Formats: sequence, C-alpha cells, structure tokens
Amino acid sequence: MQQKKRSFKIILVYIASITLLLLKQVLLATTPLILNIMIDASVLGKEIKNSYLLTLINMVTKVEKGMHSIIVLSIIILILFILAYLASYISDILNALATENITKSLRDKVHSNIQRFTYEHYVKQQTGDLIQRCTSNIETIRRTLNHFVVHGIGIIFSIVYIFVVMMNQSVKFSLLSSVTVPIILASCIFFFIYMKKLNEKAYKKEAFMTSVAQENLSGVRVVKAFAMQNYEKQKFENASSEYKKMILKANFVDSLFWAVIDAVTFAQIMFVTIYGSYLAYLGELTVGQVVAFSQYVVMLIFPVRHLARIISNVSRLSVSIKRIREVLNAPKEDLEKDFSMGTLPQNNAENCNSNLAGKPLVFDGVSFAYANNEQQVLHNVSFKAVAGQMIGVIGKTGSGKTSLIYLLENLYSPSNGSIKIGGVDISEIDLPTLRAHTAVVWQEPFLYSKTIKENIRIGRPDATDEDVLEASKRAALHKDVMEFEKGYDTLVGENGITLSGGQKQRLAIARALLKDAYIIVFDDSLSSVDTATDAQIREAISTIKDDKIVIVISHRLSSVKNADKILVLEKGHVIQEGNHEELINIAGTYKTIYEEQNAI
Ligand code: ADP
Repeated sequence: MQQKKRSFKIILVYIASITLLLLKQVLLATTPLILNIMIDASVLGKEIKNSYLLTLINMVTKVEKGMHSIIVLSIIILILFILAYLASYISDILNALATENITKSLRDKVHSNIQRFTYEHYVKQQTGDLIQRCTSNIETIRRTLNHFVVHGIGIIFSIVYIFVVMMNQSVKFSLLSSVTVPIILASCIFFFIYMKKLNEKAYKKEAFMTSVAQENLSGVRVVKAFAMQNYEKQKFENASSEYKKMILKANFVDSLFWAVIDAVTFAQIMFVTIYGSYLAYLGELTVGQVVAFSQYVVMLIFPVRHLARIISNVSRLSVSIKRIREVLNAPKEDLEKDFSMGTLPQNNAENCNSNLAGKPLVFDGVSFAYANNEQQVLHNVSFKAVAGQMIGVIGKTGSGKTSLIYLLENLYSPSNGSIKIGGVDISEIDLPTLRAHTAVVWQEPFLYSKTIKENIRIGRPDATDEDVLEASKRAALHKDVMEFEKGYDTLVGENGITLSGGQKQRLAIARALLKDAYIIVFDDSLSSVDTATDAQIREAISTIKDDKIVIVISHRLSSVKNADKILVLEKGHVIQEGNHEELINIAGTYKTIYEEQNAI
C-alpha cells in the first residue's frame, strides 16, 4: 500500500515535470510568431490575417506600425522567455526529485536483494560484478530516466509542435525547411551507437594498460629480483600505444562527424533564410515569416541531435535493466523478519520457532553434495548433541568439516537425511531465529571497518562495555587491545590498523562468546594462534555455560580432546566416534593422529 502510494506520488511529480517542460516548449515556440507579427505589422505596417495570436495580443494592446508596438511586443517576448525558463527550471527540479527517488529505492532494493541471496547463489557471483550492478548499471537507468522520461517526451512534443506551427504557415516551405531533419536524426543515432562501441574498445585498452601497470607494481619485488624492468617497460609501452591509437581513432571519427553535421545544420539554416528571402521577394511569404522560419529550423534541428543521443542510450539501458532484473529474481533466503546479522528476534516467546535453547541437535543420516561438484562431500552423517555437551569434529582438510556447519546454518540443504533441533527440521525454523541461536567463528573471520568494540558487539548490539571487556578477556584478546593507543576504540580494517591472523580469530571468538548463542561453533578458529593462547582459549571454551552446545572443529587434536564426543571425519564419512579416552585406546585414525601429534 505504502509502495503504491509512493509510486503514485512519483508519477504525479513526473507528470508535473513533463507539463512544465511542454509549457516551456510552447512558450518558446510562440516567440518567433510574435517576432513575425512585430516585423510584419509594427515595422513594415502590413496587415496580418488569420492570426489567433494577433487577436489575443490586440486584446492587451492594439498592434500597429510604430515604436510603441515594437516595445510592447519585445516586452511580451521577454516575459515569455522568463516564464519559459522558470518552467524549465521547476521542471528540472521535479524531474531530478522523481528520478533520484526511483533510483534510490532501486539501488536500495538491489543491495538488499544481494544481502538476501542464498549462500549457494552468492558464492557463484563475482564481487566486482555485483558492485557494478549496484552502481554503474543503476547509474545508466538513472541517466536514462532523467533524460528520457521528461526530456525525451519534451523534445518529441516540441518537434511535432513546431512542425505543426510551421505547416500552418506554409506547407511547402515547412517541408523544405525540415528536409534534413530525418537525415540528421538517423545519422546521429548511427554515430552515437558506433561511438559507444569505439569507446568500449578504448575502455578495454585502458583497463588492460591499467592492469599491466598494476601487476607490475604489485609484483615489484619479482620484477627487480629477475631484472625484468625492460620487459615490463616494453609491455606497458605497447599497451599504452594501443590505447593511444584507439583514443585517436575515436577523436578522429568524433571530429569528422560533428564537422559534417554542423555543416549540414548550418546549410539548412542558411537555405531557409536565403530561399525564404527569395519567396518573400516573390510575395509568397512575408519577411516576418522568413525570420520566424529561420528560428524554427534552429529549434527543430538541435533537439533532434539531443533526441538521437537519448535513443542511442536505450540499447545500454536494456542491458542494465536485464542485469538488475537478474539480481531481483535471484534465489533468495526466506527472511521474513529482519536480517540484522543474527541478532535475537525481539518477541521470542510469541514465535513458535523462536526458542531453540536447551533442545537437542540431531544430524540424522545427512548426506550432501555441492551443486557444482558431483562428488558427495558428506555421507550419512549422524550424531546427537544435547545442551551442555561439547562435540569435537576432527579430520583432514577437505574431509567435510566446514560443509557440516554450512548445513547447520542452513546455507545449503542436505541432499539426504535431516538436521533437527528439538525435533523440528531446521528448514522449517525461520532463518533469523536459527541464526540467532547459533554463533560460528569461521576460520577466516570478517571484520568491519569499525572499532574493535563495535566489531565484538556485532552479535549483541545492546551489550554493555563490561560485557565486551569480559568476552574479550575470555578470548585472550584483552592484552593485545590494551597495547593499542586507543584500546577498544581502535579502528580496524581498511581505514584502521591491520590485526594479525591470530588477533582476528580471537576477536571473532570474543564476538561469538558475547553473542551467547545456544549453539557455538568454532571452525578451525584456533589455527592461527600460538600454543599458549590456544590453551587459554580452550580454557575459555570449557567455561562456556553448560546450557549450550559447543562444536569445535579442528585438525588439531588438542582442540577437541576435552569434547564429550569426538567425530572423526574422513572423506565425508564419520569413521570413528567416542571421547578422547575411548578413541586413543582403539586402533584407528584418531589414535594415529594422536601419536603423530604427540611425537611433534
Ligand atoms: P574441511 O572443512 O574439512 O576442510 P570442506 O567442508 O571445506 O572441508 O570441504 C569438503 C569438500 O567440499 C572439499 O572437497 C571441497 O573441495 C568441497 N567444497 C567445499 N566448498 C565447496 C563449494 N562451495 N563448492 C563446491 N565444492 C566445495
């Protein structure tokens, strides 16, 4: 409803903008007619027949030969000019208002749709490509809306209107005056399309030249070490001269085209004036009409050139619309509520799905394969975890440990089997609820360009500073933070300091501990911390309240040995299951890893 109301408002604003622009065109197109009256009646003293405009002006002041009429008519022309450009100014503002509103909501919609892509769809996309869809594709739509909707309609109207006014004066002379208009329109459209292609080629050459320079700069150590300066210099110079050639070609075509079109335009204007003078000499036209016609030709030809540019942009518009529609129609996660990074929903009790805490987590015969990968990644995985339990998952790289968590987060769905919390299949639990009850510390955590404090607080925005501090201490991060001049207010990421791999992991652990979710997963998240810190964090993990489920994934045995249950994963199969004591006492992979890691 709200949306409909807004769309209606925007349409009204567009209609107002177009009306004002049409008014401008009518006012401007009237001035040559007044000039015509001024020359013929006030200067030459001729009688003008069948002019509604003259009848109208005569109501204000009697038009006759003499200075008085010339002054009055000049003032009327001046007033028309002022009104026309005032209307044009307001029309432009309204146009911008409507266009920017549409563009903003489209841009926001595209961005929010990207946020809601299913993970499976998301990983297939390229970041640069998605950014382009949010920026330059939308920009093309913005520009076309801005120019086409209002100006396009205005120009078409003005061309038709002027042509009708001219025909009203003299059919034969109107046709002669506008004979080059279709030629100019067609050749301009052709030219703009050709230039677009040429420019695209030039952009490609420029992009290639830039990438040569970039590669050269980022690989500077190799370049120097292998004395490749001359080779790099030559490579850049070749790319640079290719680019120069393309730009020169574009310039050459551009200059030649406009020289020819300008010549045709001015020839048409001269022809109208000269041939019109001849007709005036024969008495077929009045001098005033000739002057009016030469103005109309100008009013006709220049908008035609603009119209050609607008039409030629339509092809680019269709590509942009297609790319935007792809985003809008892409498979999306069903997030009915919000998707504020897994923050707990407000009304827990009211939501039938909402309280998962305390309920058992059951993987029952779960098998899984990625759509783009024929090989099955998980085979018939089953285990149960109840509140207060810590589950360890150990296995080599590629054994399917992370995929297990993707399934738990419902980023992908199992091909067979089920994952249930409290007896409810997770595909039936709404996503914000599911994700609010889980906290995953990924192996390579993502930090926002925000302060350390804000980064820790992401999972629980209402946490107090004391809570943040406590979580940070438990994650063995506090000491490091204290070494920064601004402590927890230190900015990290692109505009701030760069944290080490281990510090990032500990920050992510603090974030997860603070979130205090029901199921906490550590996905090989201690891989970049040293042994002492590892022990400290393990200690912290063991202090996690006993009403939680903790899943620790690791290839390091020390991280999982305190677990109540350890799953040994190999090529997607659970090949062993038990606690540390049990597993080291039976022959098998776990015992082998234990002996290997002990030997180190
Ligand atoms: P681990 O966490 O134990 O290293 P993963 O769960 O990351 O193992 O990977 C298990 C298997 O799934 C690997 O063979 C990996 O190549 C494959 N895999 C992981 N992610 C994807 C993906 N997005 N698309 C296709 N195959 C994947």
